[in-house]
Amino acid sequence: MPEAISSAAPLLEVEQLWVRYGGISAVKGISFQVRQGELVCLIGCNGAGKTTSLKALAGLLPCEARLARLNGSIDLTELAAHQRIAHGMALVPEGRGVFARLTIEENLDMGAYSQKDRAQIALDKERVYATFPRLKERRQQAAGTMSGGEQQMLAMGRALMGRPRLLLLDEPSMGLSPIMVDKIFEVVKTLHEAGTTILLVEQNANMALQIADRGYVLDSGEMLLSGPAQDLITDPRVREAYLGDGGV
Ligand code: ATP
Repeated sequence: MPEAISSAAPLLEVEQLWVRYGGISAVKGISFQVRQGELVCLIGCNGAGKTTSLKALAGLLPCEARLARLNGSIDLTELAAHQRIAHGMALVPEGRGVFARLTIEENLDMGAYSQKDRAQIALDKERVYATFPRLKERRQQAAGTMSGGEQQMLAMGRALMGRPRLLLLDEPSMGLSPIMVDKIFEVVKTLHEAGTTILLVEQNANMALQIADRGYVLDSGEMLLSGPAQDLITDPRVREAYLGDGGV
């Protein structure tokens, strides 16, 4: 990890996060951090609590936390979901959540709904189109007619329209062909290299750890392990449980 990142201040700090569905705790007091400019992945099996954690961070699920702070001073527990977006948190949800009947361009405009500066919106859109040329080619097409991979690009592009300071990506590779998975991971890597701070939730632990600076391993709602991605990728416990026999 570049030194500038490893010594950067935490952009997101979470301590003792609990999320319950009725009487059942899905996330049991987990703590983690994402520093400015970092790409951090949260990996774990089906049902480990990854999506639940991200939704709670985005303000979409009620939760309790001893601390949930953005940028050193913003107390997330005090903020509704739309206020968290206004503070620069953008969630790309599992299943993409694009507006199927709207065109690609209209979907991107939805990502800029809270902004007033039209010139800036136009610039942001061009930046998204430069990242995802495929979206530009198809900009008048209804989003629902696009492939899963294209919809993933659109969901990410829509989130980027707000120039987020923290991008929360929930299982971007889910349900995609291997070629498209490679493309999406390539884009995540490029966004990271361009300075975007990213918290990436993935079941594809192998690929996530290959591009991340650091990782956290969630198991049955508890934080099992954490560390530099390069250490986790060679950790026998991670290799056995999450990377299969082949590993990397
Ligand atoms: P996946 O990769 O399958 O999405 P995950 O790690 O994201 O897994 P979550 O979806 O966060 O896991 O689920 C964590 C636990 O919470 C699981 O036991 C799941 O069954 C449970 N759960 C998730 N959503 C709900 C809900 N709406 N109501 C009740 N329980 C839920």
